[in-house]
Amino acid sequence: QWIYLNGQYVTKENAVVSVYDHGFLYGDGIFEGIRIYNGNIFKCKEHLDRLYDSAKSIMLNIPLTYQEMEDALVETLRRNELRDGYIRLVVSRGAGNLGLDPNRCPKASVIIIVEQLAIYSEEAYKTGLKTVSVSTKRNLPDALNPKIKSLNYLNNILVKIQSNLSGAGEAIMLNSQGYVTEGSGDNIFIIKNGVITTPPCYLGALEGITRQAIIDICNEKGYKLKEEPFSLHDVYIADEVFLTGTAAEVIAVREVDGRIIGEGHAGPITLKLLEEFRSVVDKDGLK
Ligand code: PLP
Repeated sequence: QWIYLNGQYVTKENAVVSVYDHGFLYGDGIFEGIRIYNGNIFKCKEHLDRLYDSAKSIMLNIPLTYQEMEDALVETLRRNELRDGYIRLVVSRGAGNLGLDPNRCPKASVIIIVEQLAIYSEEAYKTGLKTVSVSTKRNLPDALNPKIKSLNYLNNILVKIQSNLSGAGEAIMLNSQGYVTEGSGDNIFIIKNGVITTPPCYLGALEGITRQAIIDICNEKGYKLKEEPFSLHDVYIADEVFLTGTAAEVIAVREVDGRIIGEGHAGPITLKLLEEFRSVVDKDGLK
């Protein structure tokens, strides 16, 4: 396995960064998770746009042009001979001193890791996930704006710990007003009487690229879709609930806080959207 590390291709054992890297010391940096389907870097432009926007927002200077970054992704895939899998692209503030000051970090670190991926079994897409709602609040647009795909995932990790303790596979986060925002690493959709609803991202959710792909599919195929705030009550009484993310794709939720959703397994619209999604993944991106 070859890993891109600051312009070099190194083996896993040699892929090491400084303990003074502020990505390590402070979670100061940004990342993207990207899928490769049949040699196609799915939604490559959307991921790179989000990366460069996140970088600009936190005044992180990515030492590669957009084109150089694209070339590095393609070359990393080529060297690993991977046609299906997952890319983790990380840009951290780079090595500095122990102080917080990013001005002491002269050069950002850029890392590209590609791997095989299998997070959920095909069975799980049919049975759906057991989930719980958690009290840890999603970051709101002050300190850690969810639009920035920051390396600082402490909240999401606390959420994961809480869902693990409840024996659930995933968690549903709320914001401080009690509106549903997203999962620990996925966006959420509910379906009631044929209407699909997802929370607006300003409530405190990442502008997920899979979320947008599903919105586009709904608009193209004529599904009724709304971006509207909703509460846990609406989730409990939904006919179907599903989560979307680069790794998870479109996965049904069968249970939330002990309430069985619909028939207790993936519903027909969720499965149809998963099918529609999988039919575009090896087309829409960088070949
Ligand atoms: N929400 C959070 C907090 C995430 O970390 C992710 C994963 O990147 C998502 C949502 C889903 O976003 P995407 O579809 O771009 O992978």
